[in-house]
Amino acid sequence: MRILILSDIHSNYVALETVLAAARPYDAVWNLGDTIGYGPRPNECVATMRGIASLMLAGNHDLACLGHLDLSDFNPDARTANIWNGDQLTGENRDALDQLEPVQAIDARFLAAHGSPREPVWEYLLTRYQALDNFRHFEQQICLIGHSHVPLIFRLTSGGRCEGPSVPDDGFSLTLEEGTRYIINPGSVGQPRNQDPRAAFAIFDTTCDSITFHRVRYDVALTQRQMREARLPEPLALRLAQGI
Ligand code: ZN
Repeated sequence: MRILILSDIHSNYVALETVLAAARPYDAVWNLGDTIGYGPRPNECVATMRGIASLMLAGNHDLACLGHLDLSDFNPDARTANIWNGDQLTGENRDALDQLEPVQAIDARFLAAHGSPREPVWEYLLTRYQALDNFRHFEQQICLIGHSHVPLIFRLTSGGRCEGPSVPDDGFSLTLEEGTRYIINPGSVGQPRNQDPRAAFAIFDTTCDSITFHRVRYDVALTQRQMREARLPEPLALRLAQGI
């Protein structure tokens, strides 16, 4: 079975379609949140995920667009885009997002948390120090996270040593080892931030028990045109080309 793991689509439907085409064939989709916010096509992204995702989390931007978080916690451009995204949502898509939680156990082996296990809505889990404490906040072997928009791997060895972060490049395959625990971020579909504008995703292959990381080019200029037509803040369009 091949499970597509993705996060932080951020209403970038051009990137999402490119990722879904590149990831085929897959048998299930796990979406780690922030399906909307920032970008120009919230309804298309939510509707697509409603059709295919067996797991879907709420991210901080999703919650803000729904009016569940204080918009003053966001910078002015993100705030403007969140208000616009929330205004676009159809009733059905709004209701679907409204039912989501920022953290959810997938099974006995996997936990999914948008930001981190200890602070699912807001924490940007980027350092080894943070990872070490976060390993204490979940029972499962593996926690999948999003939110920082950077593909990352942290390991906790059976001896208690915390390793990482390592930043997996396109094609890197991580074989999951028994006795080792992991915190894994597949990166962002719709707004990658590690100076690489390619959309990011990962595939969990249950047959060989490995997670492979991928980066794929998409038509950034098309998403930028859609953002300008929607009069979304220009810095949000420009950053997509730089991967920041
Ligand atoms: Zn995000």
